[in-house]
Amino acid sequence: MSLKIEIELPEEIFLSLRLDEDEVIKEMKRTLAVKYFKERKLSIGQSAELAEMTEEDFIKHLGSQNISIFNIDDLDELKKDLGNCSICKGDLEIGNANHIADLDNFIIIIKNVPANVCKQCGEYYLEQDVALEVEKIIDSYRENAAEVIIINYFDLVA
Ligand SMILES: [Zn+2]
Repeated sequence: MSLKIEIELPEEIFLSLRLDEDEVIKEMKRTLAVKYFKERKLSIGQSAELAEMTEEDFIKHLGSQNISIFNIDDLDELKKDLGNCSICKGDLEIGNANHIADLDNFIIIIKNVPANVCKQCGEYYLEQDVALEVEKIIDSYRENAAEVIIINYFDLVA
């Protein structure tokens, strides 16, 4: 069964892209399929279906964008690759952390930041892209008058 979704786009966008409607729709589907696959919201099969490609072609398509294919079975492998805590040498696992930044005039607590968390001591390590997002969030609150700000990472980073 398929669901029909209507999207309105400004005509000048189409004109400047020099694409026809079908191409844009195809591109959108593929882009979404890659996005949701990366976020593990869709399986490889579902993503391929969304992209209107065979699984094999979709895997090649991912490869062409340097995206590696991990499925749930590979998650344990992935965990092993996270390395060890630099404080206690404990194993790291994928999780969430409450990041607290103590700035000159306020303290900001960002809850549920995706992080690699040490199983042993609870120390956490942020991936580079997450660390950049966290910096951006903190920057956006610099003009804030509150002394303590508590926010949820997932509310801000979609
Ligand atoms: Zn540790």
